[in-house]
Amino acid sequence: MIPKSHPRYKSLILREKIKNAYKEGYLADSGMIAHGRGEAFDYLIGEKTTPTSKNAIKTSVAMLLLAKNPVLSVNGNSTALAAKEIVDLANETNSKIEINLFYRTKKRVEIISKIYENLGYNNILGNDDKNLKYIDNIDSPRATASEEGIYSADLVLVSLEDGDRAEVLSDNGKKIIAIDLNPLSRTAKIADITIVDNIVRTIPLMIEYTKKLKSKDNKDLKRIIDDFSNENNIKKSLEHINLDKYN
Ligand code: ATP
Repeated sequence: MIPKSHPRYKSLILREKIKNAYKEGYLADSGMIAHGRGEAFDYLIGEKTTPTSKNAIKTSVAMLLLAKNPVLSVNGNSTALAAKEIVDLANETNSKIEINLFYRTKKRVEIISKIYENLGYNNILGNDDKNLKYIDNIDSPRATASEEGIYSADLVLVSLEDGDRAEVLSDNGKKIIAIDLNPLSRTAKIADITIVDNIVRTIPLMIEYTKKLKSKDNKDLKRIIDDFSNENNIKKSLEHINLDKYN
């Protein structure tokens, strides 16, 4: 048991969740390493959502609300940290949820499907091997997608993902929202909107913004998107990692 008074309590709880996901068999060992990279960047941004990321989150919600077929792509890490919140966001924004795993095994897919089922979400996509298609005929596990989900999606939210996947999706004309604590990652650079923040803080904020923006006209939502520059967003996120503040 981690005592609540521990100065790194929140961070240690997330570590526990990741470790448990590995023990339960749905997170690959390299998923733990990816978590460690994220932890380091979270430390550097101060473990708080920056105003810059809040703006990226708000813009992402505007984009989700305007999309025709938005899909939230999930893997072992995002499921371990935020499965319930992902279901809530999907319901609020009328998005679909699809499993996409770098190290895909039948067992991992089954466990992850079950986690979402236990949360009352029965329409998870990407769990039927026979019906997966290859985006643009790219013969790579990174290009697999379900027909009604990512294959035909106009917008995909990826979190804690690697750059190859983002590249395939982007080359195929899909808009990409990425949740990635590393503003220097390939995914961060490829995405249309990069949210440089921890998924555990991002998704609840996205739900809050959805409630606020849902009643807005499409014109107002479009204006939010038009006013956003991802280049600027990444630049400001990098500026926030200012090591001088630790002196
Ligand atoms: P790329 O190929 O895009 O350059 P990468 O090789 O770093 O990225 P992975 O090792 O798969 O890709 O790592 C996944 C990414 O997820 C990392 O950039 C890491 O910073 C980020 N990450 C890890 N944990 C979290 C978290 N809790 N919230 C948001 N992002 C996270």
